[in-house]
Amino acid sequence: MTPTLADSTRGVSARVTQFTESVIREMTRLAAEYDAVNLAQGFPDFPAPDFIKEAAIQAIRDDINQYAVTWGDPLLRQALSAKYARWYGMEVTDANITVCCGSTEAMISTLIAVLNPGDETVIFEPFYENYGPDSILSGAVPRFVTVRQSADGWSFDRAELAAAFNLRTRAIIINTPNNPTGKVFTRAELEFIRDLCIQHDCLAITDEIYEHIIYDGRQHIPLATLDGMAERTITISGISKTFSVTGWRVGWALAPARLAGGIRKVHDFLTVGAPAPLQVAAAKAMDQGDEYCRQLSADYTARRQRVVPALQRAGFQCTAPEGAYYILTDVTPFLGMCGGEEFARWLVREVGVATVPGSSFYHDAALGAAQTRFCYSKTDPTLDAAMRKIAALSKR
Ligand code: GLN
Repeated sequence: MTPTLADSTRGVSARVTQFTESVIREMTRLAAEYDAVNLAQGFPDFPAPDFIKEAAIQAIRDDINQYAVTWGDPLLRQALSAKYARWYGMEVTDANITVCCGSTEAMISTLIAVLNPGDETVIFEPFYENYGPDSILSGAVPRFVTVRQSADGWSFDRAELAAAFNLRTRAIIINTPNNPTGKVFTRAELEFIRDLCIQHDCLAITDEIYEHIIYDGRQHIPLATLDGMAERTITISGISKTFSVTGWRVGWALAPARLAGGIRKVHDFLTVGAPAPLQVAAAKAMDQGDEYCRQLSADYTARRQRVVPALQRAGFQCTAPEGAYYILTDVTPFLGMCGGEEFARWLVREVGVATVPGSSFYHDAALGAAQTRFCYSKTDPTLDAAMRKIAALSKR
């Protein structure tokens, strides 16, 4: 008998059947299958800086091999307090910090810790794909507010955002600098969001993993630093993107102490703790890495320059990102070539460049059907190889 869909998912919970596997990671697999240049998944293909690698090697030599304190090695918690004070003037005490297995775990632990089934979350879309399944896993109902592109970059409609809040709204999720749009929320936008959070007595959960990848002199503004927000913001970040160590899985959630207790409990039962020697290495990197962090934006500016004009010349409609390392392009001019197939799937097979289909950043796939995301956290030869293939596209 031919297996039915019901057979193929038998035994899987109703909750889990509501979402699909990560399209981002699927595109990485397709890149390998078609031997394509992988500008899909957001990870660097260049080495991490020596100082963080040496710190990790030393930590293992020092036999830091057993469980760290569940909510974080004291050295890392101290380094985090010092770093947030130094960079942003934030007062982060020991009681606020939960170190997690990457900011991904920090986000899901936070959502499970603060949301009740039926609570609503406000999420800007396009969104980083995890927020959809995260909401489902935590029982919350997401409300989406669309961020749209114009010649001036990406922006949202304030009335639309205000209308998304209601009595059931418990939290808003903000990702700045943003994946996939590259938007950096301005102080005025953050103040508008702050006012809504206060008016509706809800939390802000901020994903700031790209805090140090920000262009053209912009400054990263943690929402928690705005008046009235320290008490209602959970700030999430990690070392993955800053130090090019996405596989180490060290991130954190900074929360008011009353919430941190809940986050720590969820984190404890999900993972016990993040890798102990890598937490010690992260602490050292944070203590020594300010100059490196300042240089990071300059390095990424050069990569951005290698890619954005080349994409524009080839016919992709896009503006230069303000932060992070992605370009969400409009691919309308190419849609005739794909015979109805999703552009990104066609592109990886026929042209040999892997990207992430825009549909995976929207709750309604149709909204992203004419978009695809390029990632440029790659070496110059990788970027140049991809742009050569892309340039040939316009001649098809
Ligand atoms: N944040 C990265 C991206 O958007 C990596 C995602 C992942 O695979 N965890 O591509």
